[in-house]
Amino acid sequence: MDNVTIVTGGSRGIGAATCVRLARDGHRVVVGYRSAAHAAHQVVDAVAGAGGQAVAVQADTAVEDEVVALFATAADQLGPVTGLVNNAGIAAPLTRLADVDTADLRRVMDVNVIGAFLCARQAARVMTAGGAIVNVSSTAATLGSPGNYIHYAASKAAVDALTLGLAKELAADGIRVNGVAPGFVHTEIHEQTGDPDRAANVVSRIPVGRLGNPEEIAEAIAWLLSPAASYTTGATLRVAGGL
Ligand code: NAP
Repeated sequence: MDNVTIVTGGSRGIGAATCVRLARDGHRVVVGYRSAAHAAHQVVDAVAGAGGQAVAVQADTAVEDEVVALFATAADQLGPVTGLVNNAGIAAPLTRLADVDTADLRRVMDVNVIGAFLCARQAARVMTAGGAIVNVSSTAATLGSPGNYIHYAASKAAVDALTLGLAKELAADGIRVNGVAPGFVHTEIHEQTGDPDRAANVVSRIPVGRLGNPEEIAEAIAWLLSPAASYTTGATLRVAGGL
C-alpha cells in the first residue's frame, strides 16, 4: 500500500520522532505544525536526508477550516491520505482544579479534544479501506492527574473514548483506529507546566526509573499503523515504563 500519513504536531517532540520513524517504513509524511515552521522544515529535511518524502503544512488543529485545508493540501501534494497520527496537543500549568484558570481549561479542551475530533472526522471522511488512525492519549487519562491538571487528564480520556467509538464505527470500512498512551516523555511540553524541575519531580513515580524518549513512542505508533497490527483496532497501548 502507498502510505500517505499526516502527523499533527509533527514539528517537535513525539510527532517529530514519529515522522522520521514512519518515513523509514516508507510512509510519505505530512509534518503538521501550528507555529514552529523552522522546526517543521527541519523534520522534512531529516526525512529527505534519510531518503524519504515529507512536506510541512501549517494548520491549527483546533480550527475547522485549517484541518480541512491540511487534509486537502496533503492529498494534493502527496496523494490520497491513508494514515493520521492525531498527536497535536498541549499541557497546562500545574494546579489543583479549584484554582484552574478558565481560559486554560477551554484551551486544553479546544486543542486536545476538539482538535483531535476535527482531525479524526476529516480522516473518517476521506480515508478508504486500509486506512489507519493513531490517537495520542496519555496515561493521565487513567491516572486523573490530581493536583496537576485534571482537565488535561479528562481531555485525554475523551481521546480514549474517540479511539474506542471510532474504531467500531469504521471497522466495517476496513479502517483501524488505535491509541498510544505515553507516560512521561522527554519533550518540550513539560515547559507548559510551569515546573522547571518537572522531569526530576516525576521520575520517582516511574517504575522503570526514567522518562521515555520520543523515539520509543514513535515505535508503538509505527506498529499500530503497520499491517503487522492488522487485527488491532480500538486499542490504546500504554507506553509508559510501567506507569
Ligand atoms: P511538544 O513537544 O510540546 O510538541 C507539541 C506539538 O503539537 C508541536 O508540534 C506543536 O506545534 C503541536 N501543536 C500544539 N498545539 C497545536 C495546535 N493547536 N495545532 C496544531 N499543532 C499543535 O509535545 P509532545 O510532548 O511531543 O506531545 C505530543 C502529544 O503527546 C500531545 O498530544 C501530548 O499531550 C501527548 N503526551 C505527551 C507526553 C509527554 O510526556 N511528552 C505524555 C503523554 C502524552 P508547534 O511546534 O508548531 O508549536
